[in-house]
Amino acid sequence: MKLLVTGGAGFIGSAVVRRAVAQGHSVVNVDALTYAACLDNIEVVADAPGYTFEQADIRDAAAMAAILKVHRPDAIMHLAAESHVDRSIDGPAAFIDTNVTGTYVLLEAARAYWTEAGKPTDFRFHHISTDEVFGSLGETGFFTEDSPYQPNSPYSASKASSDHLIRAWHETYGLPIVLTNCSNNYGPFQFPEKLIPVVILKALSGQPIPIYGQGDNIRDWLHVEDHAEALLLVLEKASSGSSYNIGGENEMTNLELVQMLCGILDRLRPARKPYAEQITFVTDRPGHDRRYAIDPTRIVEDLGWHPAYTPETGLEQTVQWYLDNEAWLNALLARDGVGERLGAAK
Ligand code: NAD
Repeated sequence: MKLLVTGGAGFIGSAVVRRAVAQGHSVVNVDALTYAACLDNIEVVADAPGYTFEQADIRDAAAMAAILKVHRPDAIMHLAAESHVDRSIDGPAAFIDTNVTGTYVLLEAARAYWTEAGKPTDFRFHHISTDEVFGSLGETGFFTEDSPYQPNSPYSASKASSDHLIRAWHETYGLPIVLTNCSNNYGPFQFPEKLIPVVILKALSGQPIPIYGQGDNIRDWLHVEDHAEALLLVLEKASSGSSYNIGGENEMTNLELVQMLCGILDRLRPARKPYAEQITFVTDRPGHDRRYAIDPTRIVEDLGWHPAYTPETGLEQTVQWYLDNEAWLNALLARDGVGERLGAAK
């Protein structure tokens, strides 16, 4: 297939691009290169046959129309977004602009392109979203594809809005779409403002390792390569109009996760004292969702997807990757807001 991937210089988008190229797809990577982008993430495919990079903003209607006209993709995988909850608390406008308006602009460009091509039924607009649109769970239960939308942060509200636009463009205009909602991702190339790279960074530099609140918020973690595999499977096999929840069934409290990371670091890069002694509890994030957990039955039963990594193998591989790539990590430290406490204001 010829794929147009948006946000392909980010964390998950770059994993999708690398895997799609390895599987033999042609890929047009469209990315505005915001603070969260890193071209090193896709260096390995830069000279691959069938790979093209276009620096463009999804909010730019003329640019999106021109890119679609030139490259004529069979499918769009839409990952470009503002993605950090803490930044959405301090500055929600960028999240509305890119995640809502940007998705609208891209949808309209896609609709015009698809209409002009004679409305092929095998075209796909694949929107990549998050389980955070479903809000927060109590002690029990799981998010399914039919869970009600109850977003609690500006980030999750903007992603929920974009999910609704995708659905409406399918129902109203017949645009062939698929929607996926995934749990927290981890793995190589994650920008050092998200929990796991922050923990590794702070641990190695001897600084306090911050944990929000009591560390008892629960997340369901999935390795980014397992997510990328699931996304390509959904794109190839799922019927138009369908949605899939993707999750690793790996629930952990934030404290358990951080302690596990410290234990791995103790083994791989021993220091004078156990890294867990650097753990420090800090003021909680306002509106912090208590628990996320995904029921992945539909993607497992319909498409035969199974994650390849366990938390043990995935976290060890991830920590080792950061230890082997400290230059990549250190190069991003000068970027705006990195290393600062963001999103604490009520
Ligand atoms: P990221 O912040 O690492 O990367 C986002 C990429 O989008 C960057 O390369 C950035 O330059 C690009 N981008 C931002 N605004 C743009 C614009 N206006 N035009 C073009 N490009 C733009 O994000 P990520 O963690 O890789 O997440 C990718 C997608 O997956 C997002 O849509 C996110 O909501 C979703 N998602 C993320 C997670 C997670 O755990 N990280 C989980 C589920 C879903």
